[in-house]
Amino acid sequence: MTTATSSRPQLAHLTAQIEELKQRGTYFKLRILEDEQAAICTYDGKRVINLASNNYLGLCNHPKLREAAIAATERYGVGSGAVRTIAGTMRIHMELEEKIAAFKNVEACVVFQSGFSANAGTVGSILGKDDFILSDELNHASIIDGARLSRAKIKVFRHKDVAHCEELLKEIENEPGKKLIITDGVFSMDGDIGPVDKLAALAEKYGAIMMVDDAHASGVLGRNGRGSIDHFDVHGKVDVQVGTLSKAIGGLGGYVCGSRDLIDYLYHRARPFLFSTSHPPSVAATCIAAFDILQDEPERIERLWENTRYWKAGLESAGFDVGGRTTPVSETPIVPVILGDGRRTMEFSKALFEGGVMATGIAFPTVPEGKARVRTIMNSEHTRESLDTALEVFTSVAKRTGVLG
Ligand SMILES: *Cc1c(COP(=O)(O)O)cnc(C)c1O
Repeated sequence: MTTATSSRPQLAHLTAQIEELKQRGTYFKLRILEDEQAAICTYDGKRVINLASNNYLGLCNHPKLREAAIAATERYGVGSGAVRTIAGTMRIHMELEEKIAAFKNVEACVVFQSGFSANAGTVGSILGKDDFILSDELNHASIIDGARLSRAKIKVFRHKDVAHCEELLKEIENEPGKKLIITDGVFSMDGDIGPVDKLAALAEKYGAIMMVDDAHASGVLGRNGRGSIDHFDVHGKVDVQVGTLSKAIGGLGGYVCGSRDLIDYLYHRARPFLFSTSHPPSVAATCIAAFDILQDEPERIERLWENTRYWKAGLESAGFDVGGRTTPVSETPIVPVILGDGRRTMEFSKALFEGGVMATGIAFPTVPEGKARVRTIMNSEHTRESLDTALEVFTSVAKRTGVLG
């Protein structure tokens, strides 16, 4: 029996692009995790200090979340069997939405299968072709895709440039269409915080809808990890708050918080909600337990920030560019180490791995050309010893490869 189809000419254009990536030195193979997503774990058969995951609070394998998933599986089975609007809304899905709404201090919440589908489904459905989207140039891909799906006119403002956003708003002030301002709460590649308060004030002034994507802020910023709206204390001024359940929360999913009418509208019109099956009960149960942990174990968030300060200071005093020279200043547990060249970055990341540190190289097109970086992300479960070891590995690889003089 033949299974190989790679010699067929229909997909030859893909093979050519793969070849090009290999020549540029930015082709990668997926690293395979062989045990749990943890601070020290095994990828491709090698024990490494893991500086690459979004498991900010170590919840991916918290015993209480594990227990919740198992109990829900025993009680309700493994699948939901339908989309939410047909027959796939289980009691536990509603409990999760109520839990998040109470935590975020909003009227209502809808949970999607992922943060990606929350953004794409929401932006894509609340606007139409006569409307306008004002979007930060570094916003997440799912926002960009949602904006395209909405067919609204997209105006991109320079990164965190509130004055530029206002200029663009003025240009369309007399247009009848609705205007939506959208920013990430925390930007995933540079770790800087969006000017949510200032943009919300602008939205107020121009009667625009304000939307924030808090994927990297959920569980990280604000009281008990309530996110950037709480961090800036702009409760009631952000119409659409998106968050993820896939990063600090440790499970999978995305959510939108806002008014009862917004959520009812999304129940009726958001395409991933209507046309894609809801979470297994175990996922909903896991996420419910995670919000209890945010309330009951705030020390995890404190440890996360302590580790962040320690790690950033270590890298800085060793002489690394951790952002702020040619890229934005990191203000969160996302700490990029900027190397610039794509090939050099990928080689650096590979050498780190061989030295026992997992930190992913990220190059064009995920970040701009010339701003390739090894991105490190802190979590609450790293010990001082392993951070010291990781820093030694960074320094010795950098000296050997000429990254540091
Ligand atoms: C990761 C991320 C998402 C997508 O969230 P998932 O739950 O992983 O689909 C959306 N927005 C931003 C800013 C992100 O970093």
